[in-house]
Amino acid sequence: MSSVEEIIGDVIQAPSVFKNKSILYPEYLPDRLPHREKQLKMLAQVFKPLLASPGETSQRVVLAGSYGTGKTATSRLFGKTFSLIAKNHGLNVKYVHVNCYKARTLPQVIHSIASGLEIFVPPRGLSVREMLKGILDELERKKQYAIVALDEFDYFTAANAGTPAIYTIIRLYDDDMNRKKRMHFIFIVRSPQVLDALEPAISTFFLRNTIHFTPYTTKEIYDILGDRVPQAFFEGAVDDEVIKYISILEGADAEGAGSARTALEILVRAGESADSSGRSMVTIDDVRKAHVVVKPELAMLQDTIETLSPHELIVLLAIVKTLKESSSPFVRIGEVEKTYKMLCENYGERQRRHTQVYTYIMGMRSMRIVQTKSSGKGYRGKSTLIGISNAPLDILERRIEEILTKKLV
Ligand code: ADP
Ligand code: MG
Repeated sequence: MSSVEEIIGDVIQAPSVFKNKSILYPEYLPDRLPHREKQLKMLAQVFKPLLASPGETSQRVVLAGSYGTGKTATSRLFGKTFSLIAKNHGLNVKYVHVNCYKARTLPQVIHSIASGLEIFVPPRGLSVREMLKGILDELERKKQYAIVALDEFDYFTAANAGTPAIYTIIRLYDDDMNRKKRMHFIFIVRSPQVLDALEPAISTFFLRNTIHFTPYTTKEIYDILGDRVPQAFFEGAVDDEVIKYISILEGADAEGAGSARTALEILVRAGESADSSGRSMVTIDDVRKAHVVVKPELAMLQDTIETLSPHELIVLLAIVKTLKESSSPFVRIGEVEKTYKMLCENYGERQRRHTQVYTYIMGMRSMRIVQTKSSGKGYRGKSTLIGISNAPLDILERRIEEILTKKLV
């Protein structure tokens, strides 16, 4: 038996597909954000007056978009870069990022802003107004400007719905028009609807000043992953086909929700799956396995297949076996039918006609067991391509064979 030291040592020394895994973590801030150029430009437009006429107005802008669309990364990268540019203009601008999921009450938010600005505010004994005044005075003394990003602002509005707390920040300068405007805001929300609950004047202002982050398309996810892969993986570890497949799984115009975060997570898990099998390359089946881990709701597939008829199960088994042999994400229906014919002979079942097999496949597609697409150019004639993304093939194959044996006796 191996000693504990050997067990741990083996794992630590085992080769890995990753050159630098942390490049793929959500908290890593890349120095480029493909397909967010437009949003960065709009942010620059909003904060341009801060350089041209510092202190004249307080800028406020909303970033809105669903999970994983790059709102946080864009805001951080903008803040970091804008501060640098401002410095070259001789202006002291500090970017502060506050997560309202963690700081939901007004005093917590103000404390987070203060600590981000490295300004001391006593933990208790001061009113909200006094705290804010303390921060603004200190900014004045330091001749500093602040861009405050309130991320996950949905949580703040939900926790403070109908209370004046919401307006304290939004209306910071309203009753002190003559003060130099040193504090500026980026409000980050998932859904712009949360802003409808605010006073009409404010929600109208917000809606007019919203920068939208749309879910990423297949091509956009492909570009985003493609940009990270060479930094994160050793050369040759991740095939173009793997990146393409993940893009289809997560692209908003294909199977997914368009989240770069989910796509990156599938990529990390797929790499880990290759590592744990001691392989130097990530396979399509690693991606399938990762896909189920990242989206556990897909595991339902295992129950769904129980409801299939024996003949549908044979067709599904044919798809699984053909996919396994090809090691690509999709196979042509013609190839599946060849395997299917063989399986029918093995199981002593009468072979169904092409149109019937096609109908079975479309049925399983509507149950989200398989995915289909039309072969584009490059194939002779048009053909239906079939893939399975919601389970690793080995596990699925064993499961189908089990159920078939039960059902066919
Ligand atoms: P959100 O805040 O909208 O939920 P994030 O900004 O946290 O999304 O992005 C999620 C992950 O995806 C992060 O790891 C981020 O670096 C990455 N990401 C998002 N958009 C892009 C992009 N356009 N280019 C490169 N990476 C991106
Ligand atoms: Mg975010």
